This record gives sequence, structure tokens and C-alpha cells, in this order.
Amino acid sequence: MAVAIDYGVPGIGPDHGLIFDIQRFSTHDGPGIRTTVFFKGCPLRCLWCHNPESQSIHPEIMFAPDKCIGCGRCFKACPEGAIRPDVPGRIMREKCTGCGRCAEACVSGALSLAGRFYTIDEVVREVEKDSVFYKTSGGGVTVSGGEPLVQYEFVTGLLKACKDRGFHTAVDTCGYVPWKNIEAVLPYTDLFLYDIKQMDPDLHRKITGVGNELILENLVKISRTDIPVLVRVPVIPECTDQQANIEAIAEFLSKLEHKPAVEPLKYHRLGGIKYKKLGRTYACEETLPPGNDRMEAIRAVFERRGIEVVSG
Ligand code: SF4
Ligand code: SF4
Repeated sequence: MAVAIDYGVPGIGPDHGLIFDIQRFSTHDGPGIRTTVFFKGCPLRCLWCHNPESQSIHPEIMFAPDKCIGCGRCFKACPEGAIRPDVPGRIMREKCTGCGRCAEACVSGALSLAGRFYTIDEVVREVEKDSVFYKTSGGGVTVSGGEPLVQYEFVTGLLKACKDRGFHTAVDTCGYVPWKNIEAVLPYTDLFLYDIKQMDPDLHRKITGVGNELILENLVKISRTDIPVLVRVPVIPECTDQQANIEAIAEFLSKLEHKPAVEPLKYHRLGGIKYKKLGRTYACEETLPPGNDRMEAIRAVFERRGIEVVSG
């Protein structure tokens, strides 16, 4: 008899996934035109994360004060008394259960709920809307997050449903999950987008909250399969952008059984506003993006080791 996995959130399981966004016409998450399904929940806490609403595996309320018209409907709608006008950020998050009633009551769009339960059929209905574009562009469906392989039972079912319809599938992962979660999706995955951030385990722990051993081990195992891998390296000043780190990543990748391609990703600060909406502070508020010359120098490091570099 199968044993149900406790995800710590009632409702999450093989039949229901907690998703915070389904983005159509995406061109950054694999080849061609894609639909990217973003899952809630991530075991990492990268300091520069530009999707902070993806980190918690619980639904979360986001508040945009500039959109608030002061109607007061949310105060009345909240069954927990968790919304008060005199509280900084409006929401007493320790009381909030993420029920979403305030967001339903808010007509101005000032309140929104990050995280909604979907069935596989519901997600498939969404991704099927663009199937014609997948065919003409060589695109498909990408699961991302957060870390999609935390909810791997649901994701496995979703990827299988996509493959049954002939869609190309990509899994965008940080790699910090038990191997069994990855193994489950192998039969239904056409491409892995795999993040490598920092080769120094201590520094990795400092900037993401976890060590890098499991991530590197899992990449070695994936590279023994025939599934193509695109390694994505976020270039974040003071976190990942040290010459020694870039050299070490290139060295590590050059020794894998099937050498992956690499996409260095230039840091941007677009996620900063979301931290405010969640009542959190952004650790990389002052960090500036690396210059184009630095990105070119990084490209050269990988190319010197015979690694194909894809433009980020
Ligand atoms: S999500 Fe529910 S509990 Fe949280 S503030 Fe809104 S209405 Fe209140
Ligand atoms: S319901 Fe929306 S617009 Fe009205 S007070 Fe609450 S946040 Fe502001």
C-alpha cells in the first residue's frame, strides 16, 4: 500500500499541487514558446531570490499599498482579525492562515493571494491553450518554482499528462531534493534546467541556507542519463560572482559524463517590490547587476573548457 507523504500542508499531494503562477508565452525557461508553471515551496533561501512568494509552501497574502483605496472590505472579510490599518504592512502575518478571503473581497487588487490549489486536469487545461505555439516554436511546458520537485508526486503526474499530449517538458530545479524525487520525473522530462550557484559549501550555506553536496551529487547522477541539461548560473555580486567560483563550476561541469550547456544569468533586482508586498526585507536591495564585460569574461571561462554557453 502506498504511504501518503506529509508535505506539511493539507491538500498538497499527488492530486493537488500548490501553484502561485502559470505564465504563458514564456521565452526564458527552455526552448521556444513555453508555459511555465510555478510551484510554491523551496528548501533554499537564496539571498537574491526574485520570487520570494515561491519560498514558503503555504499560501501567502501580498499587499500593494499603492493600490489600496481604503474601502475597509478586507477588515470585515478576515475571519482571524489579521488585517488592521494601523499595522505596518497591514497584515498580522502570525495570525494569517492564508485563506484568501481578504483578497476575494478586495476590488482594487491591493491584496492578492500567492498560492492556489490546482488539479492536474486544471493545469493541463491551461497549458493546452498554447499547444499550437509549442508546435510552431519548438516550445512546451516548464515546471519551475520555488522548487517544483518538492511537490514531486503532483509534478510527475503533470509531466506525464504533458508527454501524453506530445508536449516538450522541462524541469527547472535547484537540485536540493532527495534523488527519488528526481528519479520519479526522469521518464517524463525532456530537459533539465539546473541551478549551480556556489562551489564552496560554506559560502553556499551562507547565501542559500543549505550546503551544496546534494545538489552536486544529483547533477552527477542526472548527467549519467541521456536527458539534456542546461546548467544555469546566477551571477550575483558577492554571492556567486567570484572568479574562483566560476572557474570551479566550469571545472566541475567539464568532468561530467555528459557535458551540459551553461547559461550565466545576470542578476536583476525586479523581485525587490515583492518583498515589500510580503512584509519582508530584501537582502540584495543595494546589489548592482554585473556589467556586460563581466558577463563576457564569465562566458569565456566556460568556453575555454569546451562548454557550450547559451545567452542569459
Ligand atoms: S488570508 Fe485570510 S486570514 Fe489572512 S489576512 Fe486574508 S482573510 Fe485574514
Ligand atoms: S479591500 Fe483592498 S482596497 Fe479595500 S481597504 Fe482592503 S486592501 Fe484596501
